[in-house]
Amino acid sequence: MNEFDLIQRLVPHLATNAGVVSGAGDDCAVLKPVEPGMYLLFKTDAVVEGVHFTPDTAPEAIGHKALGRCLSDVAAMAGLPLYAVVTLGLPPNFEVPRVEQIYTGLNRLARQHTVAVVGGETVASPERIFLSIALIGKVEMDKCVHRSGAKPGDALFVTGRLGGSLAGRHLDFEPRVTEARWLVEHFPPHAMIDLSDGLAGDLKHLLRASGVGAELLASAIPISRAARQRAKEPSGKTALAAALTDGEDFELLFTLNGAEAVPLLDRWKQRFPDTHLSCIGKITQIPGLRLRTKEGVRTLAENGYVHFA
Ligand SMILES: [Mg+2]
Repeated sequence: MNEFDLIQRLVPHLATNAGVVSGAGDDCAVLKPVEPGMYLLFKTDAVVEGVHFTPDTAPEAIGHKALGRCLSDVAAMAGLPLYAVVTLGLPPNFEVPRVEQIYTGLNRLARQHTVAVVGGETVASPERIFLSIALIGKVEMDKCVHRSGAKPGDALFVTGRLGGSLAGRHLDFEPRVTEARWLVEHFPPHAMIDLSDGLAGDLKHLLRASGVGAELLASAIPISRAARQRAKEPSGKTALAAALTDGEDFELLFTLNGAEAVPLLDRWKQRFPDTHLSCIGKITQIPGLRLRTKEGVRTLAENGYVHFA
């Protein structure tokens, strides 16, 4: 099947929304401007066979993951996603049903978040499938949350449970768009980031941007079942180390005034009973990242790794 025929098959099924004047099929997508008082958010992210998924990965999960990564970043700014374009790299002799299923997963997640898929292109790729997505979103100017706003005394929160994502969850995670929008309405975070590189690494990005430090309470860090499971393997890292350093969690990490911690946990439990929220530590004036355990306080190494006896 040639590129033109493939596109003809995919286009009628693309997710759309009320902002689209005309989507895929013209030289550019034509989109309505966002409302006054809004910033545009603009993001690109790619998944590559052999790096982010394998030849055995369910194709719908590939499409889900590719868009989900971009949505997670929009969530981290407390934004709403709007429009996506897709660049799809296909090796020779690609299987048409597999490509259609990739788009099924992508369109399904797009519809869940009212995102319109408004075009893109296919390109030849020598050996491996890749999928690059560019996404536009919007956020109220006074609600946009940056990494740089954390203040000493802030409480530090994380959604979900961490670690062991590569055992499966990295393919079907739910980007926390709704949760982030609820937060800015009710408990505006001072700073926020989504977890793609691992808790310790991404927290360091936030601390550096904010010019502060943090102390994590080891016993408060929410550890996923997959991380606990893997820790039982002889060569596996400890479950806590996995929660601190494994990537691809796609959870939200944010800070807000310490006095709001208890009311937030209370209201969150009512609003999102199925999504864990943990207060895992505090922001400090002293720079660097420290971990408090039963044995005392230790500094986490610059690369985010910590060696546990
Ligand atoms: Mg991010």
